[in-house]
Amino acid sequence: MPIFEFKCMDCEEFIEVLVMNKQDEVELVCSKCGSGNLDRVLSTTNHTVSGGASGPATGTGASSQTRTCSSGSCTTYTIPGPA
Ligand SMILES: [Zn+2]
Repeated sequence: MPIFEFKCMDCEEFIEVLVMNKQDEVELVCSKCGSGNLDRVLSTTNHTVSGGASGPATGTGASSQTRTCSSGSCTTYTIPGPA
């Protein structure tokens, strides 16, 4: 199962997400500071070269959506899991 890794932009905590389902929609907040300001980190073990895109979830198959929620902001990632 693929593991997606995210980094908190506020406190630089790393968060790992194990994708269990075919397509998982996960709402991620930093486990350390609770920020929803996370950026996708490409795994070194399971990444495809996609032109060195530096934005979150660009060209990796995952999409992210940041929105306002009760705790400030949340980022929801739609992650394509194993077929
Ligand atoms: Zn944090």
